[in-house]
Amino acid sequence: SAPRRISILGATGSIGQSTLDLVRRDPAAYHVVALTGGRNIAQLAADAAEFGAEIAVTAHGDCLDALRSALSGTGVEAAAGETALIEAAARPADWVMSAIVGAAGLAPGLAALRTGATLALANKESMVCAGPLMLSEARAHGGRILPVDSEHSAVFQALLGEDVGSVERVIITASGGAFRDWPLERLAAATPEEAATHPNWDMGQRITIDSASMFNKALELIETHEFFRIPPERIETVVHPESLVHALVGFADGGLMAHVGPPDMRHAIGFALHYPERRHVPVKRLDLATIGSLSFRPADETRWPALRLAREVMQAGGLSGAVFNAAKERALDAFIDRRIGFLQMTEVVEATLDSIGSHARLVDDAIHLDKVLEADHLARYTADEIM
Ligand code: NDP
Ligand code: MG
Repeated sequence: SAPRRISILGATGSIGQSTLDLVRRDPAAYHVVALTGGRNIAQLAADAAEFGAEIAVTAHGDCLDALRSALSGTGVEAAAGETALIEAAARPADWVMSAIVGAAGLAPGLAALRTGATLALANKESMVCAGPLMLSEARAHGGRILPVDSEHSAVFQALLGEDVGSVERVIITASGGAFRDWPLERLAAATPEEAATHPNWDMGQRITIDSASMFNKALELIETHEFFRIPPERIETVVHPESLVHALVGFADGGLMAHVGPPDMRHAIGFALHYPERRHVPVKRLDLATIGSLSFRPADETRWPALRLAREVMQAGGLSGAVFNAAKERALDAFIDRRIGFLQMTEVVEATLDSIGSHARLVDDAIHLDKVLEADHLARYTADEIM
């Protein structure tokens, strides 16, 4: 059969590289259409040349010359900038990986969905900012969205063959991040370097820090609500330090279906790549007798106030997810630049939500991209003012 046409948005990142690792194992099965990246031009050019991509795009105009020269003689087209990114995402493909970090991944992912492609969604921010829009565009153009976030892939897998109406609750697990066992009084002085180490997963810097603050889990609670259309009061999180059970779905008869696997994103990426088939994926096989025990503890909302904010956002609905995410992105930038402390990130996000989250015109427009982007910009501006 003809090779599948695939594109990878955010190819130079952690998820992008894991995706290419799977593609590299069976290169004849794929035709790579577009690879996109940001500032890591050497990686982008090397991968585009290796896989014979049609086009390589950097998000940054000032990187175009470097990309052009790195690609000279390879036959790969080079482009740069936001519009070029969206155009590349809209090139006909069967399967597109959405793995740009942040709200910057929304418009390119939507462009891919509008071609009717299957969108493998690692970019959780798309669902948080514009869940209804993502789902309606997929429906309107005959495309589909497959979750790549490990918890959501786990829920999706636990729901296969089940009647969604019989779902009583969904539980997504949280490792607890870098500061799980730190005494509360130490958190105020935590540094970006300390926050950017994860006990179990090897991920990009931003999501790793978001794991320490639980903003990642907060985004994932909202993502669960948006993706599976499950009411907020039926979605829970529990701290599970081993990161082996990724999610559990509870049904009307009291049974729980748990998804268990090693903390390696290639499982969820491989699931989305091969769906509806299951094919071999080279992740470690778990030896349960050696692991011995799995532990769970409550996710304390005093320790991790981001979880409480996520509930407020799910209740408020509308564009509050876009406000929440944008304020979080700005607060994270400021923490990484050492302009605010670790605990102040939540304060900034909460103050931004209080300031504009319930603004009347932000309520019912989550279905229009321009409204989502307007809320995003307003929230960034407001968060900066607050800081
Ligand atoms: P990385 O930081 O490792 O990679 C991000 C990618 O996006 C890189 O290709 C980067 O380019 C590119 N990029 C950065 N800024 C922009 C921008 N403004 N416009 C366009 N492209 C940009 O992130 P991860 O791979 O860790 O995460 C990607 C997404 O997947 C996130 O939404 C994250 O929440 C989600 N995710 C990640 C998991 C993981 O295990 N890593 C697990 C579950 C979800 P460059 O590096 O060249 O500058
Ligand atoms: Mg996750």
